[in-house]
Formats: sequence, structure tokens, C-alpha cells
Amino acid sequence: MTDADIIVVGAGPAGSCAAIAAARSGKRVVLIERGPFPGSKNMYGGVIYPRILDELIPHWFETAPIQRWVVRRSTMVLSDTGALNIDYRSNAWGQAPYNGATAYRPDFDNWLAQQAVAAGADLICSTTVTGLLRDDQGRVCGVSTDRPDGDLTASVVIACDGVNSFLAKQAGLYPTADADNYTLGVKETLSLSKHIIDERFGVRDNQGVDIEILGGTSGVNGGGFIYTNLDTIAVGVVLKLSKLSAQKKRPEDIIAELKRHPAIAPLVEGGQVVEYSAHLIPEAGLEMMPKMVADGLLIAGDAAALCLAAGIWLEGVNFAMASGMYAGQSASAAINANNVSANSLKSYTDRLNKTFVLQDHKKLRKIPHLVLSDRIQHKYPAFVTGVVERMFRVDNPTPKPGVRRIVSQERKKAGIKLSELVRDALTGLKGFG
Ligand SMILES: Cc1cc2nc3c(=O)[nH]c(=O)nc-3n(C[C@H](O)[C@H](O)[C@H](O)COP(=O)(O)OP(=O)(O)OC[C@H]3O[C@@H](n4cnc5c(N)ncnc54)[C@H](O)[C@@H]3O)c2cc1C
Repeated sequence: MTDADIIVVGAGPAGSCAAIAAARSGKRVVLIERGPFPGSKNMYGGVIYPRILDELIPHWFETAPIQRWVVRRSTMVLSDTGALNIDYRSNAWGQAPYNGATAYRPDFDNWLAQQAVAAGADLICSTTVTGLLRDDQGRVCGVSTDRPDGDLTASVVIACDGVNSFLAKQAGLYPTADADNYTLGVKETLSLSKHIIDERFGVRDNQGVDIEILGGTSGVNGGGFIYTNLDTIAVGVVLKLSKLSAQKKRPEDIIAELKRHPAIAPLVEGGQVVEYSAHLIPEAGLEMMPKMVADGLLIAGDAAALCLAAGIWLEGVNFAMASGMYAGQSASAAINANNVSANSLKSYTDRLNKTFVLQDHKKLRKIPHLVLSDRIQHKYPAFVTGVVERMFRVDNPTPKPGVRRIVSQERKKAGIKLSELVRDALTGLKGFG
């Protein structure tokens, strides 16, 4: 007799959804979290796309601890002094079934974990899983923890321990980590009154804004973001790890410079830093994904590098929730079939392949590297803003030069060869599907 049917490690979005799905199917589930409560150790930029919860928690939007419903999504391209902003607004996104929402992770993760508890899972906090237990045939059969006599056995372990998963590495599922595949996300939470946020961002009530930024990262490859909560805003940068360390720049200096940019300064003015946080992101998508299944073991969420970081999209929570849910269902089905071998648990990866989780990653497989490439990062912001600046500038008495001439001149000024522009455009078109 094992201590549990299924042990889920980590009560982030992946772990809690795994635990909900498994507990709902009648399994004895233990959900282990190292923090004092779920979400206490977790951070992100700030927007969740929770429609995947329709299946698991119908009417989730009535109880989920949401800050604002995102009704405006913008993509900004910043040069040193200029800014091009593509801005889309839909007030329909502020009503059910909604699109995205801003939420604080300690609130959201805790709420999600409580859904697992309500479904029957046992939640154990302040407990770190230190390793995998194996039976005499080498199959995973439980975990060791940092508690005295803290070993726990189970038929299946689901590792949802986040980026750089210690358990996936211990199981030998990850090849050697490559710094090029990771970014460091760093965020300041700035306090501002709700009224000021509403006025500056052009929203009302619980409407929110999501701004993704290309450029503005002090020459380090990466990107930036601004998200609105009720009475705080999140301002942050995502920085390619290998470049950050090579260029010896400090993330806090990069955020400070971003906040001084003429297009950003008026949005953040007067905001007091109430929180500073940082976390790694598995950025390379499909190219860095590990094997996700072994005998008695499944891996979900960031632990399986399922976060989608593709320029205008930074989505990890929805991918974590979906993969966690499928992992919980597959583990349960394998136990019902009395076969928890890797072959039987493969129904998990089959499910990932058939759904947005791996289909989005496959479609966008070239985009993470393209977006973080030197040319896109260092040459395109000046090129794009240069073109727009000249199109909107009226140089009378000089007549308008014509768009083709402007594009050609700005391309040369930015140091982009025509062949490179064509290649990047084709890669982008193909990559974005
Ligand atoms: C700066 C930044 C901005 C981001 N912005 C967004 C965004 O706006 N929208 C979005 O959807 N995604 C965003 N992401 C990505 C998103 O945060 C992740 O994809 C998501 O949190 C993954 O969920 P998870 O459950 O797999 O892992 P995590 O959220 O990392 O949860 C892992 C859990 O496991 C616990 N744990 C770890 N090791 C152990 C152990 N040994 N024992 C017990 N417990 C353990 C941790 O304490 C944690 O609770 C962002 C990430 C960063 C860093």
C-alpha cells in the first residue's frame, strides 16, 4: 500500500491543476509545496489567460482573485527616443467569457490550490521535495522530503516544480542546461492610486491593460512589459541570461532606464516600488523541452519548459494549468489500468500533442530564437521607429519622399541587408503561422 496514489510536487498552476484533476477522479492525492502557502514563492509578469479552467472549474471567474480584466493589449517598439505603439482595445474582453486577467500570484495560486483541497487533495506546505524514490527496478515510486521521516510513496509522481526542475534533472530527462535557453524576468511592482491608473491607461472600473515591449532593455537581448493591477502596476524586463552575464549589466539598472524612456516615464511617474522580484523563464520552447514521461513519473508546466515566450505572447500559466490537468488525468487513467510504466503514461504527451499546449509550441518553434536574435533586438527597433517617424514627419517645403524610399534608407541606416530583411520577414510569416 502506498502513502498516496499520486504525489504532485509544487503547488503552482501546473501542480494545483494536476491535483484537482487527479483528486476529482477519485485518487488519493498529496500536493507538496515548499513555500509556507501556495504562491508565496511565485512571481510572473501579471496576466493569466484562464479559459482552460472552463473545463476544470466552471464559472471560475466568479471566485478567482482577479485584479483587472484585460481590455487593451499593446505592443510597443522602443528606440532610444522614439516609440511605436500598436494598441488594440475590446471592451467585450471585460465580460464573460473574458480573455486575459491580471492577478497576484500569491492570491491566484493559493485560490487554485484550495480548489485542489476542495476536490479532496491533501496539501502539505513548508515542505521541500529533495529527491525521487525508486523501487528495485528503477521505477519512480515516491519522493523524499526535508521533513524528518519525510519519505512518501505513490504509484505516480507528477513533477510541477517549475523552471530548472530539480526532479526532471534527477530523473535524467533534461540534457545539460544551456544558458541561451533561459531568460531572467525581473519585475518592479509600483503602487499608484486606482484613479491615476485608470486615467493614465484609459480604463475604468476593473478594466486592465497589457503592454509588451520590444527594445528598451539597455542593449541586452530581451523585452519588457507593463501590466495594470487595481492599485499597482507591474513594470519589468525579460533578459537573455547569456547576454546579461556577458554584458555585465544589472537588471535593476535596466528597469530604471526603461522607466526613464520618454514613452514609459509618464506611465510610471510617482509609482513607489512596493515589491521587487525575479525568476528564470524557460524561453526556448520546443528546442529545450525534456522527455516528459518516465516509469512512474510525469513532468508538467515550466518543469517541462512549456512556457510560451514568443514576442507578443508571454504565456506560461495557461500552459502550466493545461499540462498539469492532462498530467493528472493521464496519471489517474494509468493507475486505473494498473500500469504506470512510461509507455502507459504516454497518453499524457499524446494529449499535449493534440491540444494547444504542443500545437502552439510547434507552430511558433522558430519565434523565441528569432525574437531574441541580435538583429531583431538591436537593429529592428531603430529601423521600424525610423520608418514611422519619417512617415509621420512633415518636412515641408521638402516633398514627401515615398514609403519605399524611406524603408530603403532607414534599412540601410540600421545596417540591415535587404536579403536579411526578406529572410526575417519570411521566417516571421512562417513562424507565426
Ligand atoms: C518575469 C516573468 C513574467 C512572466 N509573465 C507571465 C505572464 O504575464 N503570463 C503568464 O501566463 N506567464 C508568465 N510567466 C510565466 C509563468 O510564470 C510560468 O510559466 C508559470 O508560473 C509556470 O507554472 P508552474 O506551475 O509550472 O511553475 P511555478 O509557477 O514556478 O510553480 C512551481 C511551484 O513548485 C514549488 N516547488 C519548486 N521546487 C519544489 C520542491 N523541491 N518541493 C516542493 N515544492 C517545490 C514552488 O515553490 C512553486 O510553488 C512569467 C514568468 C516570469 C519569470
